[in-house]
Amino acid sequence: MQVSIACTEQNLRSRSSEDRLCGPRPVPGGGNGSGVTSSHGNPSGGGGPGPKARAVPVARPLGPAAVTLSGPLRESTGRGTSMKYRNLGKSGLRVSCLGLGTWVTFGSQITDETAENLMTVAYEHGVNLFDTAEVYAAGKRSSYIITTKIFWGGQAETERGLSRKHIIEGLWGSLERLQLGYVDIVFANRSDPNSPMEEIVRAMTFVINQGLALYWGTSRWGAAEIMEAYSVARQFNLIPPACEQAEYHLFQRDKVETQLPELYHKIGVGSVTWSPLACGVITTQHEGRIPETYRGTIKGYQWLKDKVQSEDGKKQQAKVMDLLPIAHQLGCTVAQLSIAWCLRSEAVSSVLLEVSNTEQLMENLGALQVLSQLTPQKVLEINGLLGNKPHSKK
Ligand code: NAP
Repeated sequence: MQVSIACTEQNLRSRSSEDRLCGPRPVPGGGNGSGVTSSHGNPSGGGGPGPKARAVPVARPLGPAAVTLSGPLRESTGRGTSMKYRNLGKSGLRVSCLGLGTWVTFGSQITDETAENLMTVAYEHGVNLFDTAEVYAAGKRSSYIITTKIFWGGQAETERGLSRKHIIEGLWGSLERLQLGYVDIVFANRSDPNSPMEEIVRAMTFVINQGLALYWGTSRWGAAEIMEAYSVARQFNLIPPACEQAEYHLFQRDKVETQLPELYHKIGVGSVTWSPLACGVITTQHEGRIPETYRGTIKGYQWLKDKVQSEDGKKQQAKVMDLLPIAHQLGCTVAQLSIAWCLRSEAVSSVLLEVSNTEQLMENLGALQVLSQLTPQKVLEINGLLGNKPHSKK
């Protein structure tokens, strides 16, 4: 399972710089007593292995009817930043269109201090979506990086997958480690053919109704599986997923361009996309070659290196160099061009970045300025160069 934190636009402006990101998160509704309980969501209603004695909000029960499908969604610009905010799918949650992930780099390549600095800089530039998972940073980071893992939680059969037991215990474990009362979005980080869909949707509904999470999403699920989850939610008056986390970049287009828009329009499931630079390949910093420091050289990430060094990988690196003239015309870098290109779809709620340093972060945030220059003509030009525009099955 993967967990994301989304700060509200209001939080971004109102919290002091000291408690931003690093301090405990305010409980929605806290202070006036409305909708807050000290129960932490043990299914039996009593004590249990979950996080203890923390005030958590009781989520207003949201049925499938909470998904409103009418009208285009408004994009707004942050006050004092150029960040754009979009709805998470057709839910009411407003997320920055650029989020910050903490997968490889944060887990193994940079210091805690750098990580904290990057998150603060991102936050100050309007990023309100911080996406993490247990497997990424192995619980080493400060409190605003959530680490959790349900699918690959441990060696025992009961410690992986999306059984009710593992969803609930996995989330308890994350909250305990993070010292948080709840997270904003919980992602089921793979589909699980061994767990019945009704059990998964009921467990996600349960954690939301207990206030342990506010929304749930899927990650790497197929369109048919997401549709099934939605149908089960409709049938039993449960809570459907709000979004799917999917890989999306210049060389991986099919699902986000041909399947997810339909889900967005029909059932309101939005897309949070990841690896906008194809795991760091879409950059001219390597000049078509992969350096020794590439993340594929880290233990456990050999598969990345293999992918990059494959025939396809080499062709991709050549295409990246071909994009350079278009980037020059627009006065931007290839990384900025690629990130802006991911943002052009209305079904994409947020694009998750990951960076190694502040320079990369600032460069990538600059993609927001490139977005307005991406005219249909420019997109056609890029498509022509890539030669991989997927065609809708319809
Ligand atoms: P990415 O943007 O494709 O790659 C990020 C890497 O590219 C950085 O760590 C950095 O690595 C390099 N980079 C970034 N900006 C650059 C720039 N301006 N110039 C040159 N190099 C630059 O993103 P990703 O890390 O693959 O994915 C982003 C996030 O998506 C993750 O953190 C995670 O939260 C999420 N994700 C989710 C899943 C899932 O299954 N749901 C899977 C993967 C990722 P170097 O500096 O080392 O080159």
